[in-house]
Amino acid sequence: MNVTVIGAGLSGCEAAWQLAERGIAVTLWEMKPHKKTPAHHTNDFAELCCSNSLRSDHIENAVGLLKEELRVLGSLLMTCAEETRVEAGGALAVDRHGFAQLVTAKVKAHHLITVMDGEVTAIPDGEVIIATGPLTSDAMSDAIHGLLGDTKDLHFFDAAAPLVTAESVDMESAWMAARYDRGTADYINCPMDKEQYLAFWEALSTAEEAEVHGFEDKMVFEGCMPVEVMARRGRETLCFGPLKPKGLPDPKTGREPYAVVQLRKDNAEGSVYNMVGFQTHLRFPEQKRVFSMIPALKNAEFLRYGVMHRNTFLNSPQLLDRYYRLKSDPRITFVGQMTGVEGYVESTASGYLAAVELSRRLQGKPPINFPAETAVGALGLYVSNQSIVNFQPMNINFGIMPPLGRKVKGKREKNLEIADRALGLAEVISQEVQP
Ligand SMILES: Cc1cc2nc3c(=O)[nH]c(=O)nc-3n(C[C@H](O)[C@H](O)[C@H](O)COP(=O)(O)OP(=O)(O)OC[C@H]3O[C@@H](n4cnc5c(N)ncnc54)[C@H](O)[C@@H]3O)c2cc1C
Repeated sequence: MNVTVIGAGLSGCEAAWQLAERGIAVTLWEMKPHKKTPAHHTNDFAELCCSNSLRSDHIENAVGLLKEELRVLGSLLMTCAEETRVEAGGALAVDRHGFAQLVTAKVKAHHLITVMDGEVTAIPDGEVIIATGPLTSDAMSDAIHGLLGDTKDLHFFDAAAPLVTAESVDMESAWMAARYDRGTADYINCPMDKEQYLAFWEALSTAEEAEVHGFEDKMVFEGCMPVEVMARRGRETLCFGPLKPKGLPDPKTGREPYAVVQLRKDNAEGSVYNMVGFQTHLRFPEQKRVFSMIPALKNAEFLRYGVMHRNTFLNSPQLLDRYYRLKSDPRITFVGQMTGVEGYVESTASGYLAAVELSRRLQGKPPINFPAETAVGALGLYVSNQSIVNFQPMNINFGIMPPLGRKVKGKREKNLEIADRALGLAEVISQEVQP
């Protein structure tokens, strides 16, 4: 039994290790050092191409919980992160070179992993895990394209609007309705009067934008105009675009407000909403500052901020199952950022889950279903959730995990209880999936 893993980044290394630890021989292909993506600079595996932080290490924060689950489950990358950790307050930050070198050494030393140098340009026969990341080489992108057939199934550019939790929207200042009452009342409408709108417009048109990486062509942003660029075109431009109030009378006054921001359901459960037409390239703190000026969003919890950057990712909800396997050809599994999980830890988690499941399948064992109550399981279920339209990559967050089903006072306390529930389940699963 042999599995080919393509790409020795975060998800590929975790996947290769978990397979090998379970007795499956792995051929791991990495195009470095012969060829590097524009964001990778060293010859090591698992290179952190930007920040050296794996974000919060507190379990009341969803990414802290995800890391803790991965520790319980025996993740290679979490072990290496612990060993190379540097002081960073409540976050888990690592010595980036020490971390990548340790992962590389462990992976290369594993007796069941054979490392091959070179770019893979076609999808090999047999069991394959594709882990080529957000900057997948062009030849591999073409091969994936050929495999999927439909050009709409592979994206090269992320232009996402922010997502907020439904429960954090102030419904005293908003109402549910469809424009002109056509169809069901699926949108949350967040009104602004003239004074509120002008203050918002001023802040939006002068807010600070995020840096454009050298390899990202500013031109690509023009295909999909950021909301702040539209705002700069004129004081009223937004009121004729995404903030137009036509057909949306406020039930409190019976009149159309000066401007209306619409929120659209982002998952079938209705726990997450996206800000319609708000694709943006502003810095994250600026998004929080400016978008919280919308009265109904004054206490909004942002699950994801808007981003506009280069990113290769699949239309996973239509293509993948909960084990990140291609439904139309289950011998092929995708892991990492290209599945639409967003971030270092999330990519690692997808590599872990997919490899554990694949090893079980190859060994004739029943599937292991990580439930949505675990952060590891919630991610797999989110990216394979067919009810999601307009899929965009997502960090782990509590909004994609089922609520407790009872009231708990205080957000921190509530999240701690969700985390306790998740870790209890992860402990049980870890007994079942240990090599
Ligand atoms: C510029 C940039 C900055 C980012 N900053 C952050 C951040 O600060 N924090 C965060 O959490 N996330 C960040 N991300 C997201 C980050 O990429 C992912 O979180 C994570 O690295 C993805 O892991 P991965 O395994 O999917 O891909 P990667 O870690 O990128 O690994 C993919 C590997 O595949 C190799 N490869 C590509 N094509 C081929 C091929 N055809 N044949 C063989 N090998 C191939 C690449 O060389 C690479 O080693 C950033 C992404 C980008 C692009």
